[in-house]
Amino acid sequence: MTYDIHGNVSALLMRAASEGLERVGAPDQTCVVFTDAFSEDVARFTGNASYNVGRGAGVVGARTIPASDGKSVVFVNTSEVRHRDPGEVERLLAHEGGHALLNHRGEDLGGRRGLAGPNWQWEMLCLGALALDEARIETHLRALGYPPTDSICQEHFEDSLYVLNCDVSLALVETGDYVAELARRIVVAQDHLSKLLAYLVPYAGAGGAASPSKLSAAGKRHWDDYVSDLWDARRSLYARCPDASEVVASADLDSLYLSGLQLEIDQLSRLGFERSGNDATEMFVRTATDRRCQHRMNAAIRETEARA
Ligand SMILES: [Zn+2]
Repeated sequence: MTYDIHGNVSALLMRAASEGLERVGAPDQTCVVFTDAFSEDVARFTGNASYNVGRGAGVVGARTIPASDGKSVVFVNTSEVRHRDPGEVERLLAHEGGHALLNHRGEDLGGRRGLAGPNWQWEMLCLGALALDEARIETHLRALGYPPTDSICQEHFEDSLYVLNCDVSLALVETGDYVAELARRIVVAQDHLSKLLAYLVPYAGAGGAASPSKLSAAGKRHWDDYVSDLWDARRSLYARCPDASEVVASADLDSLYLSGLQLEIDQLSRLGFERSGNDATEMFVRTATDRRCQHRMNAAIRETEARA
């Protein structure tokens, strides 16, 4: 492990970080960069100028990016983690170390473009595969005895469903005839949802993890509307995935990723949309009825007012 530290990081946090990486079994070649200029550094490294630290209702504490030869660079958002509890920092780095582990073994999207046809299908496959990676890592972390992350506590879970409903409803009214923008916003909302569920599934029934049965009436409506029909399919897919400590043969990973693609196509349908066509004739259409969309919008307004 090499460490590159910009800004002030206490010895206590450094120890917590290296403990997390070690426990998860992160590869030795992993490079860890502590930086106060997190967004800028990640954007520069990935070439994605619009990278933003906001993600769903949380702020990103760290991000792992594959480099060459199966190596990974873990960027740690120093200004965000500096004030966190060492236990949380250890867990955060253990999670990122899990990504480094998968990258190191080539158990990632690299070289798998041929699995999908048109670009929209590839985009959905990536979305499903990245969620699946998260589930493999979180399953490993639970086995190591780590508690669930705050992002899946009951309160945050409830908030995430509220935000999902607002995102879907607002995307429809704010994008008008601009279908490409509607598609982009719906995909972002789905990405947040799938990752959230990928964190939740491995911790089902664990203390500190949200339980769908404890949702408020409003949360329960969103759950039934967007998630419940596919909850068992998602649980059984993630249960089929070996955790991040176990090697998965390339062909087996292909097949898991393809199941992830189908799950996300079904999930998109629950959100009320459908994609089809090839790259030249790509279509993105709303399949949810006007009535259903109006119910969702009414709920978004009602809950937003109640929260004000
Ligand atoms: Zn992750």
